Amino acid sequence: MNQATIQSRCECQACLWASLNPQRYVIAGWATDPRRPRQETCAAHSINADQEQFQVAWLCPYCGRNVLRSFYAGALSYRAARVSERPPPARPPSVPPAR
Ligand SMILES: [Zn+2]
Repeated sequence: MNQATIQSRCECQACLWASLNPQRYVIAGWATDPRRPRQETCAAHSINADQEQFQVAWLCPYCGRNVLRSFYAGALSYRAARVSERPPPARPPSVPPAR
């Protein structure tokens, strides 16, 4: 299944991520923060997914804010991915994972 990955930043500076299916529904949401060792899963959903200009809302797992961001459907880049596959962050976290 093709999916697109989008990213935005919370007011607390965490990076919020979501994978979208071709209907622009959220398949998975997660958050990363270079100041924290672990990636967190994150509640996320799309709003007006059938519109060219649509929104994605995240519940930031680090600060609890509801974050609403607008995206343009024509700017999404889809690639083949397994449903269970979560794309890695665009850049590795600067803090190594806890051992
Ligand atoms: Zn936050």
